[in-house]
Amino acid sequence: KNPSLKANETRILVFVRVRPLAKKETEAGSRCCVRVVDRRDVFLTEFASEKDYLRLKRLRGRHFAFDASFPDSASQQEVYSTTTSELVEAVLQGRNGSVFCYGATGAGKTYTMLGTVESPGVMVLAIKDLFSKIRMRSCDGNHVVHLSYLEVYNETVRDLLSPGRPLILREDKQATCFTIQIKYIENEFVGLDISYLCHPVNCSINSPDSNLSLKILTGIIAAGLTQYRAYSTDEVMILLQQGNKNRTTEPTRANETSSRSHAILQVVVEYQVKDAAMNIINKIGKLSLIDLAGSERALATDQRTVRSLEGANINRSLLALSSCINALVEGKKHIPYRNSKLTQLLKDSLGGTCNTVMIANISPSNLSFGETQNTLHWADRAKEI
Ligand code: ADP
Ligand code: MG
Repeated sequence: KNPSLKANETRILVFVRVRPLAKKETEAGSRCCVRVVDRRDVFLTEFASEKDYLRLKRLRGRHFAFDASFPDSASQQEVYSTTTSELVEAVLQGRNGSVFCYGATGAGKTYTMLGTVESPGVMVLAIKDLFSKIRMRSCDGNHVVHLSYLEVYNETVRDLLSPGRPLILREDKQATCFTIQIKYIENEFVGLDISYLCHPVNCSINSPDSNLSLKILTGIIAAGLTQYRAYSTDEVMILLQQGNKNRTTEPTRANETSSRSHAILQVVVEYQVKDAAMNIINKIGKLSLIDLAGSERALATDQRTVRSLEGANINRSLLALSSCINALVEGKKHIPYRNSKLTQLLKDSLGGTCNTVMIANISPSNLSFGETQNTLHWADRAKEI
């Protein structure tokens, strides 16, 4: 995007994926109002409707450019390679990153993230790629991969791998995440190495012969969250599909299986390297893959009180996410992570040296024109900042 970006500046790449017209949409006589040109530009056309004279007058088209855009023919593999494979590489360098799918219900977010058994999506392809990269670079079994799969629904956090009571997010107010390395040479204390990390995981002590490395990692922790130790890709797809069945989905008037929950897959890779002085250094990288709740406006679907409350909370999380991203790229000192559960959970995966990827999912149907336009405007703004 901008090659002159410094390493510590927040980098956000924005992509758009158009899904194929659904059978239902074709049967309803809908027309395609989205066109992708050169895998980059998106043209959105507003069709004149015979029933709506005002619309007829305002007939127009609009053009958007993104880091890449995927037409309905794009494969899952292409979407993965273009958007996420670099982040998997970064995680293996001990860095954090996050990939979001944003868009209205039915626009293709879950298909893009999870996919099907025949066409696995970004979550599964990322893990597959991660395992094959790990296999290529180490024969000593040095890397440990942990997965957790969470849901934020109505500002409540649940473990999708082990459903039960809501998880409590504990935040250390003075959240500092650092590694202290006490150096000894022949039993003589020679100094302390303290390096700042931003990976809130647990606490571990590692004591090789001549130096003690004490890692204190705090920050935001979902108490009791399942940390699934993963060994192969085969089990992961089944695991994630089971997890997805545990997602809270509610029938609404707008869509029968409208998903009002955010699903977050976090993949943590831990490994050790030796520095020039042969000290062992623990490295941790974390990749967060997020299937966001539908972005359609809650009030537009004529809901009852409970649904409106849920909608308000979903908007709160999406709004909080937008404000955090805005604040980060504007270089603001205060990032409002605390405004929602979603942003609290992603605190260590947004900003700093983290890579952030947005995939905006849209339907090509003119029946979804309004939602598509909203999604493209949102993505366009995320791109500019
Ligand atoms: P969302 O999660 O945004 O609500 P889904 O991912 O569930 O939407 O997609 C809605 C429907 O469209 C599903 O039946 C899904 O299989 C299908 N679909 C979405 N994107 C694609 C695609 N790129 N290719 C084929 N089918 C798709
Ligand atoms: Mg979905």
